[in-house]
Amino acid sequence: MNVLIIGASRGLGFEFVRQYRAAGARITATARDETALGRLREHGALALTLDVADTASVSGLAWLIDGERFDVVVINAGVYGPETAGLETPTVADFDAVMHTNVLGPMRLLPQIAEALAPGARVAIISSRMGSIGLRTSTAGWLYRASKAAVNSVMKDASLALAGKATVISFHPGWVRTDMGGAGADIDTATSIAGMRTVLASVKPSDTGSFFNYDGQRLAW
Ligand code: NDP
Repeated sequence: MNVLIIGASRGLGFEFVRQYRAAGARITATARDETALGRLREHGALALTLDVADTASVSGLAWLIDGERFDVVVINAGVYGPETAGLETPTVADFDAVMHTNVLGPMRLLPQIAEALAPGARVAIISSRMGSIGLRTSTAGWLYRASKAAVNSVMKDASLALAGKATVISFHPGWVRTDMGGAGADIDTATSIAGMRTVLASVKPSDTGSFFNYDGQRLAW
């Protein structure tokens, strides 16, 4: 199996690398800094430099993965941005930073990734149930919520564009103990990634365009 993980320096992305590698997959993984790239290489990955919020860096991905045919692609890179309460308007700079990484990043990456897919490939975007409008009970972090709602829309369009070629889904990974999730979160990275790998291994073409919890439960938009 040939796997590409975008945003693999730490947290969920790194655990994807660790688990797929342990399962014997060939891994290409991206990170932004030399320390992270070195750690990925130590774990047997082909490590590529990629900042999903940098235009030149993203444009170079097609060249870096030219000739590859990936069976599984995970777009994991994401930022939370400012914590806000109520209707606290974000600054333009915060809006641009969060939307650039979480939404424009996948919109730029997906066309390039589409050219590097093996037949029947599975493509996952790591979204969040905070992006679900149907499940919403809080306004905390509304910029992040808006970005994850938007990337679910991006995922749906990608599923339509790649119909017959790849199964495209988005995930809520659970509330996970990472730098973003914090020490008090519900589950560890091993549990989250094991769950998402199981879902990725079992999804069918008819599941394309769906929003899954890490345990395989379907989530409301
Ligand atoms: P972390 O903050 O621990 O890790 C974020 C990852 O994204 C890092 O690898 C980081 O790289 C990378 N990243 C951020 N910005 C960029 C960028 N511009 N270019 C490339 N890589 C970038 O978060 P998690 O591991 O917890 O989160 C991973 C994904 O899961 C995110 O999309 C997040 O929104 C989502 N998620 C997480 C939840 C949780 O409870 N943890 C819950 C719901 C969703 P670097 O080290 O270079 O900063």
